[in-house]
Order: sequence, then structure tokens, then C-alpha cells
Amino acid sequence: MIEKQKNGVSFFEFPKLAGLSGILHGVFTRKNGKSKGSFRSLNVSFGVGDNDQTVLENRTIISRCVNEKDLVFLDQVHGTRIVVFSKGHHFYRMFDTADCFKGEHSEILGGQIDTFDIDSEHRFEADAIVTDIPRKFLVIQVADCQSVLIYDPVQEVVANVHSGWRGSINNIIGCTLKVMENSFGCRARDIVAGVGPSLGPCCAEFVNYKKEIPEAFWKYKNDTHHFDFWSISRDQFCEAGVLFENVDLSRMCTKCDSNRFFSFRGEGTTGRFAALIGLK
Ligand SMILES: [Zn+2]
Repeated sequence: MIEKQKNGVSFFEFPKLAGLSGILHGVFTRKNGKSKGSFRSLNVSFGVGDNDQTVLENRTIISRCVNEKDLVFLDQVHGTRIVVFSKGHHFYRMFDTADCFKGEHSEILGGQIDTFDIDSEHRFEADAIVTDIPRKFLVIQVADCQSVLIYDPVQEVVANVHSGWRGSINNIIGCTLKVMENSFGCRARDIVAGVGPSLGPCCAEFVNYKKEIPEAFWKYKNDTHHFDFWSISRDQFCEAGVLFENVDLSRMCTKCDSNRFFSFRGEGTTGRFAALIGLK
């Protein structure tokens, strides 16, 4: 990962995405924010116990790093819904991964897209977001889960995915790629992606894996019940047709580096750091 600074705020870029001129992206750390105590300091999440006003200030800090006010946050629920904002239509569409591999998508919600911004009341309960609209920055908030940044430089489409272990076993990555293909004509071989700092195979211990994780994923487990979710994500990209060399794994473990990142497993009560991507 390439460490950068803007306005005194540090963030990381994926080497494979950093060279592409159509986008801005970054994975922020827990540093350089305003929050105190367990949320020290760049917590961007409401609903984890932090002060709301401070969270808004932190969101403003990251928006200034992309010179934009128009950040899109999701109400992330470890679910399988994907929201799509398309510039051709003044509404958004929601897809569910349950429908994803059946060859058709259910359109379950609709609404205006041209009125929301950082202060908006719009709430989107989903765990992945896709758009072809320039200057709309898609934010995923994490503390051990993966933020997965996706870009198609041919069709000019970006996506950001929240993939914890539930997202992994539901293949929300593969599903998001399907939605990109069906909604925008994206082709897997054009896709470039980055898997952000998250729980590594060093720390992703699942003692109850027999109840929680389907057997198809047990090949990613070592003898001490630690799973390699980084490899799962990379393989899900490759199974969808994305080129191996176009998938950038950060290989940074949040629990091992909780000075730099928030880690739910490491700390319990803690904040969420931000990963964002948007078309210029
Ligand atoms: Zn670790």
C-alpha cells in the first residue's frame, strides 16, 4: 500500500488503483480525527457510541481529502443488498445477492438520487454500492471487515463493498460484479480491485466454524481454525473472471495493527475507519 497525506491526514492507496487517472480512492486510518477515548480518533460511524457531532466533523475531514462534500454512506448490516446509482436514471435500485446467481435481479426499492449529500437524511440499508456518477464518493466503514474497492476503467464504474465473514460466505463480491455487468455492461477482465486492511489469517479464528462457515470454505482454514478471508476474496474475483494480477490485497491485519486501524475483535467498543472510491 502507498501511504499518502493530504491536509495533514494520512491514508493508503492501492498500487494497482493509484495509477488509474479516472478515480480517487483511499483507505483512511484511525489517526488524524477528532474523536476521543475508544473512538480515537478518525471514527466515521454513527451508532457505535461516539459523539454524533464529532463523527460529522470526522466525515468532513475525509471529504476534504477528495475535495468533495458528496460522500455516500450505507447503513451496513452484514447483509447481502447492493445499491446502484446510475446517471441514466434518477432513482436508485437495490439488488439482493440471494437473486444474484439466478440470472435475474429483483428491483425492490426506488428513490431520487440527485438530492442527497453528506448531511442527507437518506438511509440506504445495504452492504455494497455501485455507481457511474462522477464525483459521488462511495464510503465503506470497517473495523476488521473488508472494504473492497472496485473500478472498471472501460465503462467508468466504481463500487465499494463491505465484506465481513457473512459477506464472504454469501459472495457479495461476485454478486457486485454481476450487478456491474448487468447494470453497466462491465466486463470482468477490465476490473481492477483492492481488498482493504481487515482481519488477516493470523487473527481470523473461528472456533465455531462448523456452525458458521459452510464446508466449501473450510479449505481456507488452517489447523488452528484460522481462516484466510483475503484469499477467499481474491478467489471470488478470479472465479468471476477478474485477472489475478488485477486484484490488490493490502495484506494489512487490523487486529495486529490496532494503533493504526480500528479492530472490533481487538477492542470491542471501537470506531470504524473509512475506505472510499469515486470517479473524478
Ligand atoms: Zn492479525
